[in-house]
Amino acid sequence: MSEVQDKVVIITGASSGLGEETARMLAAKGAKLMLAARREDRLKELTESIKKDGGQAAYRVVDVTDKAAVQKLADDTKAEFGRIDVLINNAGLMPLAPLDALKVDEWDTMIDVNIKGVLYGVAAVLPVMREQHVGHIINLSSVAGQKVFAGGTVYCATKFAVKAISEGIRQESNGEIRATNISPGAVATELTDHISDKDAKEMADSLYSDAIDSAAIARAITFAIEQPQQVDVNEMIIRPTKQE
Ligand code: NDP
Repeated sequence: MSEVQDKVVIITGASSGLGEETARMLAAKGAKLMLAARREDRLKELTESIKKDGGQAAYRVVDVTDKAAVQKLADDTKAEFGRIDVLINNAGLMPLAPLDALKVDEWDTMIDVNIKGVLYGVAAVLPVMREQHVGHIINLSSVAGQKVFAGGTVYCATKFAVKAISEGIRQESNGEIRATNISPGAVATELTDHISDKDAKEMADSLYSDAIDSAAIARAITFAIEQPQQVDVNEMIIRPTKQE
């Protein structure tokens, strides 16, 4: 039996990009998926497509900045599938801009989604995983969580925070909870669509001309899940060969 078969996996930000691709890959390997994001049409389509191919999936419309909604997501997952094996904290936003542009509202949104959303996910699943004495939390950080770049200060700060949270989960694991920090470079998704600053958008478009496919990240996430429970893959950086 594959280590993915029948594992109950929650994926936030499953309505596009890395989340969607990972959902398809894990479903094909027999995981039981709970898919979450805000766009219901996308989630519904993905869930139906997975089921049509013989996979198992359900979805919930969840805004990860809503603590109660994230808790309900975990509660519903437990009720529907009986346990929670893996949480993939993937929902995130990257509205890049220099600090001087003073896009303070976007700073708030990034902090709310990229940091607080991740923590709400941890809070919602941790008691269940403790009760099971086993679990796996996978957080989507970024190469922006390894090195700060101009125009990305706040985004980088949120992804550094995600890396710190992953390492904290590992250190407090008590030998029960696996913690994986995934740091992608440029991957072709909808992530750059929401950049409102003109110069930052041009910079991103140029960087993303060499972007790799979501499948590269889905394979990395799947690899981490597939390892036996005594093997904890803590860090993976996956970027285009051409990216500096
Ligand atoms: P996408 O924009 O394609 O996907 C982002 C996902 O996050 C969407 O499904 C979106 O769904 C969801 N999301 C955004 N805000 C919320 C919210 N408030 N509540 C719930 N879901 C939300 O980008 P990616 O797939 O590329 O991004 C996934 C993760 O990977 C992010 O954390 C990103 O920072 C990280 N990453 C991506 C890289 C890349 O180059 N693509 C590089 C490094 C890291 P909806 O709008 O339906 O809510």
